[in-house]
Amino acid sequence: MKSGKQRREEIMQRRRERAAKFVNFDPHLRRPRVPLGVLEADRELLARHNNTCGCLPLYYVDREFTCRDCGSHEVWTAKQQKWWYEVALGNINSTAVRCRPCRRADQARSADARRVSEEGMRRKLLAQAGKAGTDR
Ligand SMILES: [Zn+2]
Repeated sequence: MKSGKQRREEIMQRRRERAAKFVNFDPHLRRPRVPLGVLEADRELLARHNNTCGCLPLYYVDREFTCRDCGSHEVWTAKQQKWWYEVALGNINSTAVRCRPCRRADQARSADARRVSEEGMRRKLLAQAGKAGTDR
């Protein structure tokens, strides 16, 4: 019986092999038919991007990347890209840079930083309001 970790590693290995096939695939070049393993972009959904450079992709393919934080070799799947660009309207020039656990950790870190900064701002405003009160 395989563990969940082994199974995940097998899935990731298959994804990496598929991504390797598409290393030289240009997603901006129109093809007579959609190649196997390639997802077609929805031009109408992509048109919601304020994009003037004309570099919207026609296709999505699995892309391998190295996590910025832990260095693990990950694959940003065509399906994940389609969701990111067409549903979440993520910046058209942005790509995946962190694996899922590192992304979660990074989000938690930014949320913490935001909370601390908001708290500091509130304290500053309260202190200013207090000073204003004594000036009068
Ligand atoms: Zn990572």
